Amino acid sequence: MSEKKRTICIDFDGVLHDYSNGFQGNDVFGEMIPGADTATKVLKKNGNTIIIYTTRPATDALKQWLKDHDISYDYINENPNQPKDSEGGKLIADMYIDDRGICFRGTWDEWFLRQIGEFKPWESEKKDLEKQMQQAYKEGDIWRLGQEKRITMKG
Ligand SMILES: [Mg+2]
Repeated sequence: MSEKKRTICIDFDGVLHDYSNGFQGNDVFGEMIPGADTATKVLKKNGNTIIIYTTRPATDALKQWLKDHDISYDYINENPNQPKDSEGGKLIADMYIDDRGICFRGTWDEWFLRQIGEFKPWESEKKDLEKQMQQAYKEGDIWRLGQEKRITMKG
């Protein structure tokens, strides 16, 4: 598989590490999202430039976490190839990988607005699913063997 070499901005919170508990401090991190190490390694090996693009500052603790978890990358919060006249805040890249993003496909239609309205990051969807499953389990509990609801027919 030959891929075009691209610049890829990858978010940190909720993409490289688990952010289920929200922000706990600049240098407090969750578990690595499984596969993040291998995926970044493959992307980099294929010649892509990887930029960790995060609201967090590039502290030594963050760099250490990335090192400890074998995350392959080139830069954090900077693109040295950014033209000087385009320093408006957003980094130039071919794509952005983010848990809070919605991909715009060229049409501001009703479907897209609905997508915006119903958007939830995956961590929230996962928590909602867990709640639903707990509820289903409780409701299903009455059907456990030996505890079935007895229905008596009264004439
Ligand atoms: Mg995020």
